[in-house]
Amino acid sequence: MKLHMQILIALGLGIKRNGHIFLGLIAGIVLGIVMHAFHSAHETSSVYNIIYGVLNFIGQAFIRLIQMVIIPLVFSAIVIGISSIGDNKQLGAFGIKMVTYYTIISIAAVVIGTTLALAIHPGDGVQSFISEKSAAATQQIVSQAIADQKGHLSEIFINLIPANPMEALATGEMIPIIIFIMIFAIALAKVGEINRPVVSFFESVFAATMKVTDGIMYLAAPGIFALTATAISSFGLSVFTSISKYFLAILVGFAIQLFIVYPILMKVFSKVPVRLFFAAIAEAMMVGFGTASSSATLPLVIACCEKRGISHKVCSFVLPLGVTLNFDATAMFQVIAVLFLTQAYGITVEPLQILQIAVLAIVASSTCAGIPGGGIITIALVLNGLGLTPTQMVEGFAFLFAVDRIVDMFRTMLNITSDAVVTAVIADNENELNYDMLTNVESYKDII
Ligand code: ASP
Repeated sequence: MKLHMQILIALGLGIKRNGHIFLGLIAGIVLGIVMHAFHSAHETSSVYNIIYGVLNFIGQAFIRLIQMVIIPLVFSAIVIGISSIGDNKQLGAFGIKMVTYYTIISIAAVVIGTTLALAIHPGDGVQSFISEKSAAATQQIVSQAIADQKGHLSEIFINLIPANPMEALATGEMIPIIIFIMIFAIALAKVGEINRPVVSFFESVFAATMKVTDGIMYLAAPGIFALTATAISSFGLSVFTSISKYFLAILVGFAIQLFIVYPILMKVFSKVPVRLFFAAIAEAMMVGFGTASSSATLPLVIACCEKRGISHKVCSFVLPLGVTLNFDATAMFQVIAVLFLTQAYGITVEPLQILQIAVLAIVASSTCAGIPGGGIITIALVLNGLGLTPTQMVEGFAFLFAVDRIVDMFRTMLNITSDAVVTAVIADNENELNYDMLTNVESYKDII
């Protein structure tokens, strides 16, 4: 059977198991479309605002609950994971494999994105539509974001080292947090037996946060329903038809990544059964789609991977790092979006500049935050120096913002999937994948 069919079946199986979440997703999309149509017809009616307010409350409550467990979960997972790896050789092997696989899929993503953008030419003839859609209010926010990104690349990197780890923990900046925890955990592994009390403390923290995650997942269906409905209602689907080529390029690229690139990586570098593995992470994929936040989905990806056979050692090392640094779908989106804008404004891009866009997209995406719209902010880094005037930059940027939410949902789903795929491949390579658990139907009853 063709690989993409197998994946679709696997997702179908995953969805069947979690029918309630899938139902929430579909019902949210339908309600969102109805609300948008209603709002366009009766702009002054307060009914829309009341329903939107209630749904927004439910959706935000769900996201905040998951966010609540991220820091204790990441902290405890990495400390236990690295201290259980112990020897430097294995840590090095995990690290090298991780960088290699993430690089392969990121390069594939930007190559596919560039090819599609150059073949489809999504930006031709849409300049006036861009001007019309980029609201003045958004332009102000965007100008600030562009100004913030202007800093030299080295400054962006230096800021990733947390001068004050407590401040990073308090503000939830994921990359500095991860850097601090990893250094702390490696040191802890090196001090020997004396680390026992701290490691057992974090083992308890980890177990408790996983329990909390299980509980929060009971709210996944209403949460995803509310999030999807509010996202679609403020966006509508009419924009799809106005810039259909833009969405076409992005969605075709995402489909190639999901149905071809990830399976090839699994087939070439491991013996992980593609169909089964996609079924194993279907819940996480749906929650990634609904929340548009990789960080918020992290607890669930860890749960799916661990409960279905990947060792804690690998999950706790690779997943938190992947979720904070690997954004292959975001990189692909950034390449397409930047080429879209240059095409819209009639700017010719030389081959060398295309290479520059592709490389910068990988860098910019990996410094982005795993939150809704995180990938839009760092696009400024890629857009700079391509010849757009400051007004065009702000306008184009504000436009991308305005039509981003649905694209964001898809790319988050992919970002999460690639994190899990790379984790599975590394686990297979390092004999850290329990195939009995992966194939045992019992392990699918848990979680949600
Ligand atoms: N929302 C995406 C994520 O969390 C990041 C992005 O905006 O591309 O993975």
